[in-house]
Amino acid sequence: MKKFFKIVKDTNPELRAKCKEITEITPEIISFVNEMHDYLIASQDEKISQKYNIREGVGLAAPQVGRNIRALVVYFEEQTDEGVHIVDHRLINPKIILESVKEVYLSGGEGCLSVDVHHEGYVYRHNKIQVKAFNVQTQKEEIITARGYEAIVLQHEIDHLDGILYYDRIDKKNPFVQKEDAIRI
Ligand SMILES: [Zn+2]
Repeated sequence: MKKFFKIVKDTNPELRAKCKEITEITPEIISFVNEMHDYLIASQDEKISQKYNIREGVGLAAPQVGRNIRALVVYFEEQTDEGVHIVDHRLINPKIILESVKEVYLSGGEGCLSVDVHHEGYVYRHNKIQVKAFNVQTQKEEIITARGYEAIVLQHEIDHLDGILYYDRIDKKNPFVQKEDAIRI
């Protein structure tokens, strides 16, 4: 791991700020996004995460590492019928352009590298979304379609760019409220 980031926690008001659009995609911004990606992969390596005492994550947004700009990364592997599928997004200025009415939630709730105290409850998200963004890997503006868990992670990270944390979306009075028709995963 080239760069060791310090994660901004939710006790820091900076995490609540709305992040700025990136107007010029410079080589420095590209390297920064790739460094966030490297950090995420390292966090999923048991030896590294133990050695550096970092928590495992599947997504990371720029404000979580102290930069108020609209960039995020998502990385995880998932088992599908066709084998292991790698989800790898490195996005600049992501914008949700389409979202399904159908909702989805994680039965165990969500977690966040910036939140040390687990907040119990369901976070309902759109089951399918389309995101328009500059893709760092292809160096092009693209439209990404995501469903289920991938859609949840992307929405969680995009929320960070607007200063929103997952527990803001938990029903305070009834954290485990059951919504009809929502997909449970
Ligand atoms: Zn988070």
